[in-house]
Amino acid sequence: MILFDFHHHNRENTYGIYNLEPKEIVTEKKFSVGIHPKDIDENWEENFEKIKEISLLPNCVAIGECGLDGLISLNENLQKEVFEKHILWANQIKKPVIIHCVKRFSEIIPFQKTAKIPLVIHGFNKKKTIADEMLRHGFYLSFGKSVLHSLSLQSILKEFPLEKIFLETDDANFNIEELYQKTAEIKGISIENLHNKILKNLESLPIKI
Ligand SMILES: [Zn+2]
Repeated sequence: MILFDFHHHNRENTYGIYNLEPKEIVTEKKFSVGIHPKDIDENWEENFEKIKEISLLPNCVAIGECGLDGLISLNENLQKEVFEKHILWANQIKKPVIIHCVKRFSEIIPFQKTAKIPLVIHGFNKKKTIADEMLRHGFYLSFGKSVLHSLSLQSILKEFPLEKIFLETDDANFNIEELYQKTAEIKGISIENLHNKILKNLESLPIKI
């Protein structure tokens, strides 16, 4: 069974959303494109123009990853400015946004008001209080490899509504089937059923696959 990988960095993967970097050659597979906060530099505006162009392609299904990162030294206001640009553009082309967030969840929340499209926090591996808060504000959460070994994430996932979940490998090297298996077990449903739910969630973004 081929399982959908919501966010990955493997160009060979055919069933998922490839995280394309703006300077990379465009792929024919489904992808998202954006400026990761760590890649914001003096040329970001120029890069953003390129993103605008690439993101109009029909196989570009989302904007991102983009967002806020509290562990890098880059000026926070600049990070917010670049993130907002992504959201406004996503509004315009009506594609969802895949968000990278490190230690800045409370600052991500207000952007929900700006967004007219769904927002998905990728690689979620924080506390339950944060998961609840994000849910309350309408965010989707995409979970990755950490679920396999973190008991706290497993208990978050147990209670988190299936309608708001995605699963991803990100840049980790493992088989996504392990993650589906674990999640299905936590949710007490079959892998097939879980996969169908994830495909429904994609439709709700809406992403056609
Ligand atoms: Zn990533």
